[in-house]
Amino acid sequence: MKIGIVGGGQLARMLVLAGYPMGLQFQVLDPAIDACAGEVAPLIRSDYDDENHLQQLADWAEMLTFDFENVPATVASTLKRQAAGFYPPAEALAVAQDRLHEKTLFWELGIPTPPFATIDSLEELHDAVARMELPAVLKTRRLGYDGKGQRVLRAPEDLKPAWEALGGVPLLLEGFVPFQREVSVLAARGHNGEIAFYPLVENTHRDGILRLSRAPLLAPQLEREGWNLARRLLERLNYVGLLALEFFVLDNHLIANEMAPRVHNSGHWTIEGAVTSQFENHLRAVLGLLLGSTAAVGHSIMLNCIGAMPERAAVLAVPGAHYHAYGKAPRPGRKVGHLTLWAEHPQDLQTGLDRLLPLVGLESPG
Ligand code: AMP
Repeated sequence: MKIGIVGGGQLARMLVLAGYPMGLQFQVLDPAIDACAGEVAPLIRSDYDDENHLQQLADWAEMLTFDFENVPATVASTLKRQAAGFYPPAEALAVAQDRLHEKTLFWELGIPTPPFATIDSLEELHDAVARMELPAVLKTRRLGYDGKGQRVLRAPEDLKPAWEALGGVPLLLEGFVPFQREVSVLAARGHNGEIAFYPLVENTHRDGILRLSRAPLLAPQLEREGWNLARRLLERLNYVGLLALEFFVLDNHLIANEMAPRVHNSGHWTIEGAVTSQFENHLRAVLGLLLGSTAAVGHSIMLNCIGAMPERAAVLAVPGAHYHAYGKAPRPGRKVGHLTLWAEHPQDLQTGLDRLLPLVGLESPG
């Protein structure tokens, strides 16, 4: 079976690595000559709007998927017209590409969100802040990721500089959520409507970038709530594939932040920490195979390596530690790999965590 992946970053790379044992073949399409999935599968180097190269991928592949949500809508429709299958559905892509569409859909489905308002001028920003109160977060509606394209507004004098930094493109103002923790729900849905939910994951961000995930987070009531909310979204979108839904936890309830219609950084722990990884389950889902068990095996902590990889020998000297380098050149702020620390019992993670945190530039997990 031949699978084409639009986007050749680390998510595509880990999809390929999960698919090879199943006898799958891959090609990836990415504009970057050094796209890191190109180390493990043939790379079609191409801009995303190059119809000829998209056609080449679609002609070769029996099934198409993608590894990032900003695949231009035109690409999704071109590929949908040409290929046997393109999953997750183009509608999920379109929703995830625009924070207004995303929050509006959440709202329609009864999935709680922070209050939000569209902003297209400094005047509208002043009016919205008067209604919503500060602090608030101003975000670009499109193309924001890892905290890029957003500013926290804490005082009236923050409005003008934030507008000057972000304005000129459609914006969304959101109420600031004074959350106690952040969590994510990962779920896979198959062609037959079967849904498999992974255990709830707790996430820690620094400067808008995910640094650490812990799973499973043993919070049965929150987990049930998260699964119920994610189910609404999966069914409404007639979703096929792996979906991630990120939440804030405020006073023991969930407030949705955003969704990702793809495998997700907060699911990397599933490679060692779940019966079936998110990558394998995404492939199973898009191929119409039955889903594998999403049960956690023991307890895992995933640490992102930002900027540069720590020394391999130092990481692997820690019992239960696993090393995942993406083959990306070091650069400040760039996700170049991750580590997973695994133990059978949660209390056995602390010693290893104390050794790994300084290796990834974190002093404390909180
Ligand atoms: P995003 O790119 O929207 O996922 O935001 C990245 C991170 O910024 C989130 O994981 C939060 O830590 C923080 N953040 C974003 N939106 C809000 C909000 N409305 N209230 C509080 N924190 C936020």
